Amino acid sequence: MTGRRSFLLSLAIPLSLAACRKGQASPPQAAPQGARPDDWPGPRTPVSHADEPVPPIGDRLRLSDAEWRRRLTREQYEVLRQEGTEPPFQNAYFDDHRAGTFLCGGCGAPLFASRDKFDSGTGWPSFTRPIEEGRVVEHADRSLGMLRTEVRCARCDGHLGHVFPDGPPPTRLRYCINSVSLELKLG
Ligand SMILES: [Zn+2]
Repeated sequence: MTGRRSFLLSLAIPLSLAACRKGQASPPQAAPQGARPDDWPGPRTPVSHADEPVPPIGDRLRLSDAEWRRRLTREQYEVLRQEGTEPPFQNAYFDDHRAGTFLCGGCGAPLFASRDKFDSGTGWPSFTRPIEEGRVVEHADRSLGMLRTEVRCARCDGHLGHVFPDGPPPTRLRYCINSVSLELKLG
């Protein structure tokens, strides 16, 4: 009996670690720690894309790993390029209710609109849908011992978060997105 309980517990642990789980306080899942911050080749604060022209749907931006490191902050790189997850309730946009367009933090493509944002209670910014078709791509993600659907920027292939089938109307979807993958362009 003890053995069976241990087995069940070992099954439960991967679930409790899953990012963006609804209805429970997920433990903060810090992005992986690398070298000291002063070793980082990129900017210390995110570079804004708000004043750049809107890239057309279908446009692709493909950069080398070294180029991404020079272009992104360490925190952006660890989430966008290494599928990290920022801590819940300790990020820029989970409780930000301003109107605007959420751009990709990596390439500036428009990804989500504030009109589709809702308070999911998870501690991450959550949306019922992408801003328009063709802006994000979705992939099966079998990490952490469970099947989830990963959401990436269609233009630069940057990791954004995951989508779950437990959102509010009209779509019943919940796009659970890392703030650090986004930039809110007001207006
Ligand atoms: Zn992008």
